[in-house]
Amino acid sequence: MDALGEQLKSETDKLENIDFSKVNPATGPVKINGVSKGDALAVKILDIKLPETGIMVVAPNAGALPEMVKESKTRIVKIRNGIIHFPGNIRMEAKPMIGVIGVATEKEEIPTGTPWKHGGNMDTKEVAIGNTIYLPVSQDGGLLALGDVHALQSDGELCVSAVEVSSKVMVEVDVKKGMAPPWPVIETSDSTIIVASGKTVDEAVHEATKWTVKVLEKGLNIPWEDAYMLGSLIINLEISQVVDPNKTVKARIPKRYISTESILQALST
Ligand code: CA
Repeated sequence: MDALGEQLKSETDKLENIDFSKVNPATGPVKINGVSKGDALAVKILDIKLPETGIMVVAPNAGALPEMVKESKTRIVKIRNGIIHFPGNIRMEAKPMIGVIGVATEKEEIPTGTPWKHGGNMDTKEVAIGNTIYLPVSQDGGLLALGDVHALQSDGELCVSAVEVSSKVMVEVDVKKGMAPPWPVIETSDSTIIVASGKTVDEAVHEATKWTVKVLEKGLNIPWEDAYMLGSLIINLEISQVVDPNKTVKARIPKRYISTESILQALST
């Protein structure tokens, strides 16, 4: 189901009239045999099927400009042959991604709208076809759930929504025994990304940076201070989103310096 629980069907449907207990649904949980606490659950995204329409919304007190929205607005956006048709005859290539993906937490109850160490509403555009996300398993079986697919979203998700769609997603799961990372890790064709969240972007930056410098120190076997310096040269800090209950930041580590496997090893020791 889309992030709005399929409650908005037309541009006259208003966000303030929907049942917010049905917002941000995640499909699951799926128990995976052979997965136990302390493992990394590797989820490779094989396919994300897009429907022919998506929904966008703005609402007062939401997004990166919360005080500037006078009233809510709903837009139905057409998706045709992989192209997003935005009002004003603006067209963009769809780049489907999964906004919410996670495993069960150890003890706490965390709403599916909140990103944290278990995954959740990270709204990170690299959770996309061909990439693999590694999630830290806290319960036997992992208990994987996902939802909140976007046909397109750029870094920030600044207005609070992206092209929200219902979707069929195909994933392949695998396990890395004993390699649960402290935060979700995404492997792309050319980089490894540590995805950290915090109450503020500053807090998320601190977490992402702390673990990335540890990866460089342990993975490359260099002094911590040198790893910190190297971080200034090869690590890109990027924003996933600034609009959810926790904010999410990415630290992107190029594969040419260190492999994803070495990063997972360094993170779990
Ligand atoms: Ca989301």
